Amino acid sequence: MTLSMEVSPELAKYGQQLEEWAVAVGRLYAREADTRHARPDNWSEILDTCPVPLGRAGKGEADALPRVPDGEWIRALVFHESLNYGDPWMYGSVGNGIGHLVVEAMGTPEQIERWYDPVVRDGTCTGFALTEPQFGSDTSLVATTARRDGDMWVLSGVKLYCSQGAIADYTTVFATTDRDQGPAAIKAFVVPRETRGYVVVKENEEKLGMRSWMTSQLAFDECAIPLENMLGCGPDGEGSPRQSGRGGALAALNNNRPNMAAIAVGLARASLDVAGQELKSRSLGFTPQRWAAVQRELALMRTAIDRGRRMAYRSQDAVQRGRPDRAISAMGKAYAPETAERVIRRCMQLLGPDGTSQDLLIEKWWRDCKILDIFEGTGQIQRLLIARGLMGRAAG
Ligand SMILES: Cc1cc2nc3c(=O)[nH]c(=O)nc-3n(C[C@H](O)[C@H](O)[C@H](O)COP(=O)(O)OP(=O)(O)OC[C@H]3O[C@@H](n4cnc5c(N)ncnc54)[C@H](O)[C@@H]3O)c2cc1C
Repeated sequence: MTLSMEVSPELAKYGQQLEEWAVAVGRLYAREADTRHARPDNWSEILDTCPVPLGRAGKGEADALPRVPDGEWIRALVFHESLNYGDPWMYGSVGNGIGHLVVEAMGTPEQIERWYDPVVRDGTCTGFALTEPQFGSDTSLVATTARRDGDMWVLSGVKLYCSQGAIADYTTVFATTDRDQGPAAIKAFVVPRETRGYVVVKENEEKLGMRSWMTSQLAFDECAIPLENMLGCGPDGEGSPRQSGRGGALAALNNNRPNMAAIAVGLARASLDVAGQELKSRSLGFTPQRWAAVQRELALMRTAIDRGRRMAYRSQDAVQRGRPDRAISAMGKAYAPETAERVIRRCMQLLGPDGTSQDLLIEKWWRDCKILDIFEGTGQIQRLLIARGLMGRAAG
């Protein structure tokens, strides 16, 4: 056991190069992406200028990501923090989504070869459709149905906030095969985007923050897919998944939550650095007492950010060593976004009205950060998971 949170020199160098580029180039387009609720039209050319591989969809860059002794999960943390230190608009364009992580968690070896391996190899993009109009947190309430019709499954229902759902190669859709059987009947289905009945109702919801992060409203209108597209089943529709549909959804989220904590850390650190520089440039006009109060507050914020990063590392280290821990993962996701949101809010406060002005990006990062406390499991739900680790289902 080591308590060092230091990454290898190779990974540190990758993170530094990525971060410098994300600030110097990516940040220039942050306000435009926010105002338009869409990434810049020339987003692909912008990303092409990055001096280090981004593992980008459709660019075959996944293989080019540096092979580091720290392992892919720790590398992912550095990637998420460094890129989002620049600004989060780029993240929605380079991410692979998480639909394929469900395939990895629940699929047969054949399904993994067909739908997981190419995503990891080529960096294509996948969707994850769980949330519906009537629920998000309580995943037992899935109302989208999957009806067997001969050698096909026919899906019907509506899904909300499906990240990149309008452009994903395929979306992993959670649907129930029999509502009377409760959560056990919730299964996961791979639905290629070109399937008839895969309807994009709205390409992107208009949100408070993370505005250019595409969250699509999808409808599955008598959408027929082969039996073998149910995860865990063979071509004849037989076989039992290694875990339930809900289990697969939660496994995918579990391993991605620390990455969301890392994004929050990147945003808070960016805000603190910008606010720190602004305050330093004004400090000559401050009384010694005011300057001391400002420094104390900055120091507390710096410490809080460091705690968030350590939690994310601890959980991803457990995943890296093949011992993922839901409660530890939930701690980082519960702590880092909420703490980062408070840090950014205090940065705005210290700068007065300038902190809320669109001349700086701090107000945008604050709005972006709020979203991190909502998706991939809200803060309250993370705390519920931590409590369950302590006292089982009695926690709620
Ligand atoms: C940018 C973005 C991207 C997203 N991407 C995806 C995606 O790719 N796929 C997908 O399926 N969904 C996605 N979502 C949806 C997101 O996961 C849900 O919005 C989230 O899980 C909350 O669900 P809900 O909206 O139904 O709210 P609800 O579950 O109705 O929750 C509303 C409030 O009640 C609280 N609450 C609920 N239950 C409890 C409880 N038992 N105890 C205490 N408090 C509780 C919640 O914490 C929350 O504060 C995305 C959302 C956003 C904003």
